[in-house]
Amino acid sequence: MNDLKEFVEISSKLGSDLSLVQAGGGNTSQKIDSKLMAVKSSGTFLRNISLEKGFCILNYEDVKNYHDMPAETESMYSRDINQFVKSGNGRPSMESGFHAIIPKKFVLHSHPVYLNVLLCSQEGESILNTLYPDSVFIETIAPGMKLSMKIKLIVDKMNEDDICTLFLQNHGLITASNNLINCYEMHKNVAKNVKKELSLPKFIFENNQDIDPILFEKNLFPDQIVFYDSGDRDSDGFKENFAAANYIFAQINGSGLTPLFLESQLIDYIRSMDSEKYRLNLEQK
Ligand SMILES: [Zn+2]
Repeated sequence: MNDLKEFVEISSKLGSDLSLVQAGGGNTSQKIDSKLMAVKSSGTFLRNISLEKGFCILNYEDVKNYHDMPAETESMYSRDINQFVKSGNGRPSMESGFHAIIPKKFVLHSHPVYLNVLLCSQEGESILNTLYPDSVFIETIAPGMKLSMKIKLIVDKMNEDDICTLFLQNHGLITASNNLINCYEMHKNVAKNVKKELSLPKFIFENNQDIDPILFEKNLFPDQIVFYDSGDRDSDGFKENFAAANYIFAQINGSGLTPLFLESQLIDYIRSMDSEKYRLNLEQK
């Protein structure tokens, strides 16, 4: 467990920055040896992770191989992934698939508000391709099984060394490295650079409590749907995700960009996902 000390410290640091991680969003992993991986547990807040709680140990080789022939439905998929857990708390993050598949020791995933101004706008893809020509851009897709399968297709075709920065449209950022500090620095620098590039103001949670009504009808990212459906407007999940959405939407408009909302088919799919429902259950307790 000592091996995980630095991983836990960086994970909780990443999770404590509201401009990167809102409520239970975001997840991190460390491959411990040739088989085992620590990954954040579903429903846990990254900022609360410690050596005692908040992550699961999984056999990542099994998880990776499982993606050669995964289940047909999202609920079967998350049930199957659970079976690879060796120890730890609760269920593994619904994104454990891509953590296992990405061939680097450390994988960090978050929802940076500054970056999401670009990832949730129609112009964002071409701007990011110019700013980060060596990155991987993944078009809007449901989190969980579909995202992990998409990342598998990409990773299978790439050189291991080239898999460092992955942009997820309408979602967030993944950085991967065999060096934890490097992985964390890359992560923070992407957010910082985009903030600078677009001259964005600092994200202040308290200043984003007056939510634009359009955000109760249209969605910029998956977590917004999950917490809207919860109906509990006093939960941290709701407040933090809607403050983020409010900021992102205002800055898209303020930067002269065009918002890219989720399509209804994807929204219906996300609403039907068991693992998201599970996460919501956990957070309402
Ligand atoms: Zn995410």
